[in-house]
Amino acid sequence: MSSAPAPRWTLLVHGGAGILTRDTVSAQTDAAARAGLDAALAAGEAVLSSGGTALDAVEVAVQVLEDDPTFNSGRGAVFTFDGAIELDAAIMDGATRAAGAVAGVTRTRHPVSLARAVMEHSPHVLLAGKGADIFATEQAVEQVNPDWFVTPERRAQLDKMKANPDGWFDVDMKYGTVGAVAVDTAGHVAAATSTGGVTGKRWGRVGDSPLIGAGTHADDRACAVSATGAGEFFIRIGVAHEISARIRFANEDLQTAADAVLAETQALGGTGGVIVAGPDGDVAWSFTTPGMYRGRAGSDGTRRVAIYGEEG
Ligand code: ASP
Repeated sequence: MSSAPAPRWTLLVHGGAGILTRDTVSAQTDAAARAGLDAALAAGEAVLSSGGTALDAVEVAVQVLEDDPTFNSGRGAVFTFDGAIELDAAIMDGATRAAGAVAGVTRTRHPVSLARAVMEHSPHVLLAGKGADIFATEQAVEQVNPDWFVTPERRAQLDKMKANPDGWFDVDMKYGTVGAVAVDTAGHVAAATSTGGVTGKRWGRVGDSPLIGAGTHADDRACAVSATGAGEFFIRIGVAHEISARIRFANEDLQTAADAVLAETQALGGTGGVIVAGPDGDVAWSFTTPGMYRGRAGSDGTRRVAIYGEEG
């Protein structure tokens, strides 16, 4: 008598892409990033392996990365030109295509959870600025003193950027945005992304991360995508939705679609990376930078993290 196959699940996380090579990443950062990615995988894996939803898994995985000062989200987020920290995040449920997002929030410890509150407890998809901060308080989403987010490394990056005004994007070209995509044992996908944006951003700048279809998208008919990179270009291409559309309408596999859309984005001048998960358990990651902080766990026992391009 043959027994039914064990239910399958998969989880991918990222902690940003950029000029990440063995020469540019210190041994300390390398170790901290790997530990952080692994902790995020562990948190998501605990949800998925006990039959939990992809939506819950991507939220907890991103929460772990938001608390980790190694990455540019939550604690350790980059500074705006004026020395503030303004956080963006989004979450999307592939089963229902419900989505929530926030931009420019200043006191929420876990912006991904505030995005989920927007999805579940408001009639809207995207809340920005002061109103989003007010909504966070009303929803009793955990608030912290803005000092919680501050790290000396990010302050130094802002000083360096101001000393060299030509360097508009993150001076080190390391996009430290975090994200997760997952497929659960019921075959539903979800995506979440969280970021401080780019160093020295001004005038209420919002990147691709909280924009549904640009930096974040999930659709059970195709895949879930979370992106990192030069947000202005990812917005113009609609990267996450474009990958999904190629899979749905052109029958491309995940890797082909992700590679093609990132190549198109690079042709405009924007580099970065994506993680992608499909409802049948297929996954892909792709990046046009030398490296991407990334990790993968699955019901097949896979549990690995990687940083550099040659790690596969
Ligand atoms: N995509 C993000 C943004 O443009 C930056 C990043 O990936 O780190 O806001």
